[in-house]
Amino acid sequence: ALVVRQRMRSCGQWARAAAIIKELEEKCGTPIAKLRHVADAMTVEMHAGLASEGGSKLKMIISYVDNLPTGNEKGLFYALDLGGTNFRVLRVQLGGKDRGLVNQEFTEVSIPENLMVGTSEALFNFIAAELSKFVAKEGPEYQLPPGRQRELGFTFSFPVQQSSINSGSLIKWTKGFSIDDTVGQDVVAELSKAIERQGLDMRVSALVNDTVGTLAGGRYNNPDVVAAVILGTGTNAAYVERAQAIPKWHGLLPKSGDMVINMEWGNFRSAHLPLTEYDHSLDTESLNPGDQIFEKLISGMYLGEIVRRALCRIAEEASIFGETVPPKLKVPFILRTPDMSAMHHDTSYDLKVVRDILKNVLEISNTSLKVRKLIVELCNIVATRGARLAAAGILGVLKKLGKDLVRIGEKQKTVVALDGGLFEHYTEYSKCMENTLRELLGEEVGESIVIEHSNDGSGIGAALIAASHSQYLGIDES
Ligand code: BGC
Ligand code: MG
Repeated sequence: ALVVRQRMRSCGQWARAAAIIKELEEKCGTPIAKLRHVADAMTVEMHAGLASEGGSKLKMIISYVDNLPTGNEKGLFYALDLGGTNFRVLRVQLGGKDRGLVNQEFTEVSIPENLMVGTSEALFNFIAAELSKFVAKEGPEYQLPPGRQRELGFTFSFPVQQSSINSGSLIKWTKGFSIDDTVGQDVVAELSKAIERQGLDMRVSALVNDTVGTLAGGRYNNPDVVAAVILGTGTNAAYVERAQAIPKWHGLLPKSGDMVINMEWGNFRSAHLPLTEYDHSLDTESLNPGDQIFEKLISGMYLGEIVRRALCRIAEEASIFGETVPPKLKVPFILRTPDMSAMHHDTSYDLKVVRDILKNVLEISNTSLKVRKLIVELCNIVATRGARLAAAGILGVLKKLGKDLVRIGEKQKTVVALDGGLFEHYTEYSKCMENTLRELLGEEVGESIVIEHSNDGSGIGAALIAASHSQYLGIDES
């Protein structure tokens, strides 16, 4: 009798678990028609954001980059790339038209978590100290003509209202950062002061978003690159706009006629986005409630956390891990997206990877194969929604560029440079994103659109932009 009762209870549990998953799958649904609505809404918001300051949730920030690299950049330049979890310092020796990128070196440092939520001065001191250590190791293969000051391109991957190519104030922090006293400050001034405190003589010649850096780095290698997208801890896109199509731009018309726009698409939001109860609670309890809704659906900082929330509810209501919810499962952000990705990609017949992550990360042992399968399914639902929405975002940008339709006689490719850990390492996600984009574009147009992985182009891109805005001659005019 006991066995029968247990079996009946277990049947009820599985029915409950299956029902919750089914509901999640429905709410996360992204049929093609919905994705088209999302893409159209993105295009509409792009127009609104370009029309006037504050005209849209999409900031459509003017980057002051009106010329992308040509290959003529020349000299020694540094770059500092502050993004999500790590920051990088690099130096490049650019050889101009004939020699291209002659030398490059970098170092990567992870940012201590306490610095992400501490004071502005502490963060910038830490960065400048690492920069200074790196500069001290400059070898003889790097050459700076006598009497010249070293110059730096600063990649700062947060929304900044730029006031020139090398100044701009922080609008807000995103991702895991929250340092009140930096908001509203000129981040170049903050960095420059910290550099000075280190006793280092260096000028910040360019301030760029990582998307803008990636666009510049991508263009250096391929002249057909017109947009860049980051799918990493956070997400965003930048593209080349015609300056005349930017009503809110009251400056001079650039010679090139172009202006790179940093969209800050992470803050996009639309009634067409498929939001669930998990997304709502994640948002409410986040460091930035109400902000970055698109980012919270598709980027690496949040995917694992969405899965954790759904799994937590299943554990509560269907008792799949026993009568009580395992305590670790209740800890926000304990399930990181790399772990989610590893579980999603588990191809072993008994889902060993899932078993080990449950055991090591969530301290849940003795899981059945059925439970592990359920978890892989959860990962799939959440990753698929994110990847398909990212594809819709890209379609929105291509629409704005007028590249979403077949154009007779057009042979030129349209290349979108992509970077970010999520895109690079979460294969199921990137595959799904690219397949969805193909599906949305259709075969004929699809052939002219190329997604190109730009491996860490954002740092080099910043150095290249620093070169073209050097106080000396940073380009080869011979
Ligand atoms: C930031 C963007 C950045 C993106 C990718 C977002 O959270 O707001 O400025 O480009 O992350 O790093
Ligand atoms: Mg990389």
